[in-house]
Amino acid sequence: MSRRIIPVADANALTVPRSAAGAASAPRGVLLDTLARPLRDLRISVTDRCNFRCVYCMPREVFDKDHPFLPHSALLTFEEIERLAKRFVAHGVEKIRLTGGEPLLRKNVEHLVERLATLTTPDGRPLDLTLTTNGSLLARKARSLKDAGLTRVTVSLDALDDALFRRMNDADFAVADVLEGIAAAEAVGLAPLKVNMVVKRGTNDAEILPLARHFRGSGIVLRFIEYMDVGTSNGWNMTEVLPSADVVSRIHAEFPLVPLEAHSAAETAQRWAYADGAGEIGVISSVTRAFCGTCTRARLSTEGKLYLCLFASAGYDLRALVRGDATDDDIDGAITHIWQGRADRYSQLRGSSAGQPPSGDGGRIEMSYIGG
Ligand code: SAM
Ligand code: SF4
Ligand code: SF4
Repeated sequence: MSRRIIPVADANALTVPRSAAGAASAPRGVLLDTLARPLRDLRISVTDRCNFRCVYCMPREVFDKDHPFLPHSALLTFEEIERLAKRFVAHGVEKIRLTGGEPLLRKNVEHLVERLATLTTPDGRPLDLTLTTNGSLLARKARSLKDAGLTRVTVSLDALDDALFRRMNDADFAVADVLEGIAAAEAVGLAPLKVNMVVKRGTNDAEILPLARHFRGSGIVLRFIEYMDVGTSNGWNMTEVLPSADVVSRIHAEFPLVPLEAHSAAETAQRWAYADGAGEIGVISSVTRAFCGTCTRARLSTEGKLYLCLFASAGYDLRALVRGDATDDDIDGAITHIWQGRADRYSQLRGSSAGQPPSGDGGRIEMSYIGG
């Protein structure tokens, strides 16, 4: 059995334990963590940079011109991402989402999509390969992403009103740019398309109904996300969270809604249909109704650290493995060991401590770095 020491690149890198990198891998596709949750989804952050400065994610006063973004040499290359993704797929991952920062800012991201689109599950099924974007570059990129093999996209849009949109993203992009991106994605068949709105009470909650009216009947699923305490820079406060139940009742008052069954147990959104048949909406209640019990997601950061929770304070340094002399068996052993030790359930614990970060919270990683 090979024994390896993984160098600790910085303070938030966890070393893969010596015995793990050469440890036996679990049987393919049945990896369970300590709470019996399987590994099914992998979110890969391809850049920590963004052309927006959303107030809830990359506030300009923190992410200013002096912010130390990662140097190019620190980023996983497309070859490295593909190699790691293959190992994750061998252990049960069926869905890969590219994210960031703004993933469409990563040069030639469609070349990465092309590589990932060739992967299949151990029983031969294609992956669900998707991407979350702020939409600003989507009109330009939709065709090449589709041709590269992307299945679908999720676009973030927090307001229809230009002034409010700018207030949320603190950058000079018009709503029309994003709507144009959405139209382009639809035109090339990147479907079903989802639109995510982060709701910040007192800032953009007046946009819930305009957005609902806009996307009703379009075939696009609009989803409302509760403002979360990700990272430590956004000054999160529980009073700015509008519970999803309020979102649903505001919409229901104008357009009656009926609940829908979840597509799968691991689905993060609760689904509601318009009673008149004009489609559906979703609500993601990460704060008021934690879904840790069914959380099957792992996150690979831009520089190759594996995070087991959106609110983790440290990640396992897989880049050191792929840039070292690790074999695929070594990587399999590391993934097995890390996932089998997973006990993360931050939102559930926050829920039972009256909205306060759970004790032992050791400083959370920023969303733009770990990927949403
Ligand atoms: N830049 C892309 C985008 O905005 O779609 C992808 C990365 S972004 C970090 C992924 C998702 O996280 C977006 O839908 C964004 O709105 C959401 N997000 C970021 N910070 C959040 C917060 N504090 N609470 C809830 N959602 C958040
Ligand atoms: Fe950029 Fe997305 Fe974060 Fe907004 S939410 S700052 S678009 S990474
Ligand atoms: Fe998953 Fe962590 Fe979110 Fe819970 S808090 S649902 S474990 S990412």
